[in-house]
Amino acid sequence: MNNKDVERDPRVDAIPDVHGHAKGEHKLYAEERPIPYTARMLFLWFFHACQRSSPRFMMVADHMNYLTFEDPAAVNLVRRALKLAHAGDLYGAAETAGVEVGHAQVVSEGLRRGMHYSIGAEVDNDPRSRPDAQNIVDAMRPDAMIRSVHFLTIDHPELGAGYQWAFDNPEFQQLYEHVGIDKVWELYMATLLDAIEKLPGHIVGHFYVPTKFGHWPEDAKLDQYENQLIDACAARGMAIELNSRFFYRTFADDEHSKRRYRNVNLRLLKKAKARGVGIAVGSDAHSPKDQGNSFDVILELLDKAGINELVFPVNGRMARVALRATEELLKQQATPPPPPIGSSVSGFGRAELAARDGGVYTEPEYTTKRGTKAALKAAAAKTAAAKAAAAKEAAAQAAIAKAAAKKAAAEKAAAEKAAAAAKKKAEAEKKKVVAAKLAAAKKVAAEKKKLAAAKKAAAKKVALERKRVAVAAKKLNAANKKAAAAKKAAAKKVAFEKKRAAAATAKINAAKKAAAKKAALEKKRAVDAAKKINAAKAAAAKKIAAAKKIAAAKKIAAAKKAAAAKKAAAAKKAVAAKKAVAAKKAGRKPAKRLAARGKPRPAKKSRTSASKRPATKSGSKKKSKPRR
Ligand SMILES: [Zn+2]
Ligand SMILES: [Zn+2]
Repeated sequence: MNNKDVERDPRVDAIPDVHGHAKGEHKLYAEERPIPYTARMLFLWFFHACQRSSPRFMMVADHMNYLTFEDPAAVNLVRRALKLAHAGDLYGAAETAGVEVGHAQVVSEGLRRGMHYSIGAEVDNDPRSRPDAQNIVDAMRPDAMIRSVHFLTIDHPELGAGYQWAFDNPEFQQLYEHVGIDKVWELYMATLLDAIEKLPGHIVGHFYVPTKFGHWPEDAKLDQYENQLIDACAARGMAIELNSRFFYRTFADDEHSKRRYRNVNLRLLKKAKARGVGIAVGSDAHSPKDQGNSFDVILELLDKAGINELVFPVNGRMARVALRATEELLKQQATPPPPPIGSSVSGFGRAELAARDGGVYTEPEYTTKRGTKAALKAAAAKTAAAKAAAAKEAAAQAAIAKAAAKKAAAEKAAAEKAAAAAKKKAEAEKKKVVAAKLAAAKKVAAEKKKLAAAKKAAAKKVALERKRVAVAAKKLNAANKKAAAAKKAAAKKVAFEKKRAAAATAKINAAKKAAAKKAALEKKRAVDAAKKINAAKAAAAKKIAAAKKIAAAKKIAAAKKAAAAKKAAAAKKAVAAKKAVAAKKAGRKPAKRLAARGKPRPAKKSRTSASKRPATKSGSKKKSKPRR
């Protein structure tokens, strides 16, 4: 676009651009939020094209997930502003769209040159879109809808089945390895064909989007997919977008991919042409500078495919727009053949030709036959008459000239007067313009101030959002830390508890051991005690036995003594008795008793009984004692 010195094919500017995003560049996936349209935003998107005079036909089409409730009203407002600008009401247009008069003027001039602005939408399958998104799109009364697929439903390796994968977003690029190129294309085709069949749409957007990161299927397979696309579009009367973003952005630094992209698009264009499927061209610009970007490459492709007619949505219908001239016609125009003046081919009438040659019309001279007098006379008369007529005509012409001069003088005077008046008026107009300019400048300054404030507010918002994210991250971090600490503490506690338990068991074991030892000791002691007791018992028994023996010996000795004493006593008694008997024998009484009992026996008997009795007596005594 900057190479103005290189000869630029004027048809490039005539290529309608159906795909542009006034809401701007993509943001990080998690940070994308709906952005409301304003009449100003939409007006300025077209202003840039008008300033360049290219592309002449343009449609804005923003994404589904950016939609807001304000959008239909903003679209209505900008349409009214465009009407006012087209009618030349610059102040009205500027005020309605919220732009400066200068903007309105550029757009007004563009519209009067034949530029056109359509407003549509890129309707895709973004899961972040609000559920009533299609209703909002409908309320915008879009001139057309671009149907596209930006998400595939896959089994995520961590998040499981039913995951909505933004497959053309570089943030999620690594999932291609998980899904695989063939599966990606299978899923893409199924999703796209289903959407074409069942959902509203006029143009299929960027068909080759899965190749964005270089993921090309086998060529035979791609050929087959293209055929399926052509069939589906033919059945639904939808057009196919030839997307130029891949040339200036996606494959900008990748000549190999660019060539490949060019080749498959050429194949697709030829197929579409053969089937009567319309082709729409889209720059997919997310910034004004990319409107119509790489349309020179697009034109080459169109020429190669022999396509001179493109589809562009106008007032809600798909218009077929021929590029302003064919290549052949332009070549012809470069060396135009001189038109044959005066021929019927030129298309000019005689009077027109005369006017072109300075107002004098001369009849071609007729050849006359000479020879006869009459003829000569007639000729002379004719000449005289002609002369008279000429003189008369000259006089008349002179009169007319005089009158004309008079009229001219009068006109000149009038013109001078008018010029003076005009000058005065112009001066007043100038003054007015200056005042308007001043007012406009004032307005511009106010607008600038407003813009600066808005920018500041936006920056503040962004900063706030960033801060919020940072705080959340910090919070998360802290929570993680806390959790880790808690885990550690718990582990420590468990270890401690284990240790304690081990110590307790050790203590118990020690106690058990000590108890066993004690018990053994006790047992030993008991045994020892028993031994001692036994020994003591034995000793005691011995003692007793000894004592008994001694006692017995003593008793026996005593008894013997006693027996000896008794024997002695008995012997004494016997002596005494003998003496008594001897005395009685001397007296009566002892004589009689002796006589009654017998005579010698008492002596004998008492001897024996006396020796025996003490023994029996002691024996009975001994026996009765232990029995007690
Ligand atoms: Zn898209
Ligand atoms: Zn897009």
